[in-house]
Amino acid sequence: MKVIDNIKDLKSYLSEYKKDNKKIGFVPTMGALHAGHLSLVKKCISENDICVVSIFVNPTQFNDKHDLETYPRTLEQDCKLLEQAGCAVAFAPSVEEMYPEPDTRQFDFGTVSSVMEGIRRPGHFNGVAQIVSKLFYAVEPDNAYFGEKDFQQIAVIRAMVKQLGIPVNIVDCPILREEDGLALSSRNVRLTAGQRQKAPVIARTLKESVNFAPEKSVQEVIDYVTSTINAVPEMRVEYYEIVDGNTLQSISQWSDTDYPVGCIAVYCGEVRLIDNIKYQPLSK
Ligand code: AMP
Repeated sequence: MKVIDNIKDLKSYLSEYKKDNKKIGFVPTMGALHAGHLSLVKKCISENDICVVSIFVNPTQFNDKHDLETYPRTLEQDCKLLEQAGCAVAFAPSVEEMYPEPDTRQFDFGTVSSVMEGIRRPGHFNGVAQIVSKLFYAVEPDNAYFGEKDFQQIAVIRAMVKQLGIPVNIVDCPILREEDGLALSSRNVRLTAGQRQKAPVIARTLKESVNFAPEKSVQEVIDYVTSTINAVPEMRVEYYEIVDGNTLQSISQWSDTDYPVGCIAVYCGEVRLIDNIKYQPLSK
């Protein structure tokens, strides 16, 4: 596997593939790789001629300085995992390489970015759009892979490529979970042993709610999920919304959409975890 740290070398390496019309697949990550990331990498390898994975902790998408400072960085281990997985190129640039000067672009993706994470993490999606657009310009992938764990992020990326006219196919990948249901996340390593034991209540409660949702109103499901998780010491639900999975707007009745998705953010101690689940559409 080739490890490249600058855009010029990356472009020159990939130009050989482009010349031969080979399909370039791309997985953007912030490193501290786990099996969730690797499931995207596997899919990328199987669907393209070459797989490029970027590892870059993007400062402009962190609205919390402490979160940026404490974000796990494990480049050496990440490269080992990527190599084992069969990835061809790891692109691991410095902050100076990606931001030789400040990126002053301000995006407006309308309603998909002004709800949920968009409200609670001001500037987050603007930073995501800044770095992902720069990475797309650098890699020029045919296909780019994103995890449904960051459900809202996929909607924002789709809006971005449409707005900027970037010719890339965005591929959604399912959430990979631990055996006890907890969605894999680079932030899980920051949980204490006690918090790690409690955290699966999030996925467990979401799953339970899917089973009884057909007999309950949207509000009853929201109340159940919120109160069940809040009842666990050290857990605090920041929001739980049931939205139309395409527009990300909250629904008040199941009949409001044929694609209901529940999106949650929970503080477990000081670690912020997100997750989501799809509900069955109301049969008509
Ligand atoms: P991150 O490094 O957290 O920015 O994540 C990089 C990519 O991996 C994003 O598209 C995430 O949605 C995806 N990802 C993170 N965790 C998981 C997971 N548990 N299952 C599937 N994809 C994931």
